[in-house]
Amino acid sequence: MIAYLEHFVHENNNDSEPNEHEQFVSSSMELDGSIDFRSTAFAGKDFGGLHATSPFAVVRPSGTHDIASVIRFASQSPNLTVAARGNGHSINGQAMANRGLVIDMKRGSESVIDVVRCDGGYGYAVDVGGGALWEDVLKRCVSNFGLAPRSWTDYLGLTVGGTLSNAGVSGQTFRYGPQTSNVTEMEVVTGTGDTVICSGDVNSDLFFSVLGGLGQFGIITRARVLVQPAPDMVRWIRVVYAEFEEFTRDAELLITRPEGESFDYVEGFVFVNSDDPVNGWASVVLDPDQLFDPSVMTRTENPVLYCLEVALHYNKGNCSSTVDTRVERLLGRLRFMEDTLFQVDLSYIEFLLRVKEAEKQAKANGIWDAPHPWLNLFVSKSSIADFDRFVFKKILKDGIGGPMLVYPILRSRWDERTSVVLPDGDIFYIVALLRFTKPYQKSPSVRDLVAQNHEIVQVCARKGLDFKLYLPHYNSEEGWKQHFGDRWDRFVEMKLRYDPMAILAPGQKIFTRQQ
Ligand code: FAD
Repeated sequence: MIAYLEHFVHENNNDSEPNEHEQFVSSSMELDGSIDFRSTAFAGKDFGGLHATSPFAVVRPSGTHDIASVIRFASQSPNLTVAARGNGHSINGQAMANRGLVIDMKRGSESVIDVVRCDGGYGYAVDVGGGALWEDVLKRCVSNFGLAPRSWTDYLGLTVGGTLSNAGVSGQTFRYGPQTSNVTEMEVVTGTGDTVICSGDVNSDLFFSVLGGLGQFGIITRARVLVQPAPDMVRWIRVVYAEFEEFTRDAELLITRPEGESFDYVEGFVFVNSDDPVNGWASVVLDPDQLFDPSVMTRTENPVLYCLEVALHYNKGNCSSTVDTRVERLLGRLRFMEDTLFQVDLSYIEFLLRVKEAEKQAKANGIWDAPHPWLNLFVSKSSIADFDRFVFKKILKDGIGGPMLVYPILRSRWDERTSVVLPDGDIFYIVALLRFTKPYQKSPSVRDLVAQNHEIVQVCARKGLDFKLYLPHYNSEEGWKQHFGDRWDRFVEMKLRYDPMAILAPGQKIFTRQQ
């Protein structure tokens, strides 16, 4: 059988009818779902648009049983790999499997399977499919149960398994931790094809390895996600700072206040001090009717400015003067520039789906499908002022054609037992350089932007900044070893235990498939 398999993975068949090898593969897996050997091109691309591969086949599973069958089948071949593909929103080919089997997790994955009561004073949780999109989880939770997960990403067209394999961060992370801190149990199919239920108490090695584990130890088929009563409304607010020190002081003040004495969401971004329509002042206003008064900027000559973005939840029953009073009290402690307060009220669902509107516009003008050489980092509080000085104020002083997010997070909200690696200190910042490139336009080329990302990482390393890549990507084992530091040995140990043949998530380029 092995010789037979060796033969087929090197073959390309362009006929519309399955050949005998493909029929052999289909029948051996005994799938309830389907396998496609032809329409596979979408699985060889991702949101980053920087890499392309050719998968051997795409499997659309009808349940956990199919996922286990695919992995067991691959383990009997000499070199087949298996990649779970969430929504393919990676940047560097992480969800790809060149000449391997890609499992299309979005297919057949239920957004909310059940609501359950949790032990340990957590209240309620929902069981969701690993391939469910967070936007569907949100809609189902709110409309059916009036509940919502506590921790989000900014954009919800991502799958549960995809974000849990990384961390999942946004403006709620300071309070509830990343999405990986908001899961109490998972069903996982390991690289040996075993289906395992795991939690902090049961099979905990697997549970913590999988969270933030870059898909290396198993495929998440179900996750139990903590929820809370969903508010009706959100007051969404932006204020501007000329000085980085004042911006960070206020952002850190807000994230360290107890619940009830702060906002429910805290983020921030850097923008260019100019009238550039994409990178400049216009990027701060929340409503097309609002105007940014440029005369305010005559008070500073800084090349870049800082926007603190916060939000307060409330219910329709709250009278508007109560909301106004709470907002005024919270803003009263902050030192933002006068005449730079922007605010809007919107429903909770509209707020959480705020990036969807931008997605629609970007799709219409072609920039959603053009390459995205993004760079995400966690930078410790002790290094963030240097990052501002060397990177924002110098290398990126003209902007990047998209958001440059920077906001603080409390380390205490992260579970150190997960596979995610963080810089030192009680507080660190997420820095997200979300570059958009223009379709059909060569300047600056995508290659130059990738080179600029390398330059930023090099500068950080040279200047001795304390940082880690988020959504990491390295091409050598040395890079990965350095990334994981003293946690590398443990990562390797867990890999040998749960995916000894290195079948899973080959697109991360951490391990090589074993025969
Ligand atoms: P994929 O890209 O499909 O997969 C990512 C990795 O996870 C791959 O290695 C894959 O094999 C593995 N994987 C996928 N599903 C599973 C599963 N069920 N079990 C095990 N492994 C699996 N991140 C944030 O933290 N916060 C944000 O606000 C945020 N905003 C974003 C906005 C946009 C527009 C984009 C494109 C990305 C954003 N991200 C954000 C990054 C995002 O969280 C990651 O890229 C994530 O991996 C994408 O999810 P996905 O479902 O598309 O996963």
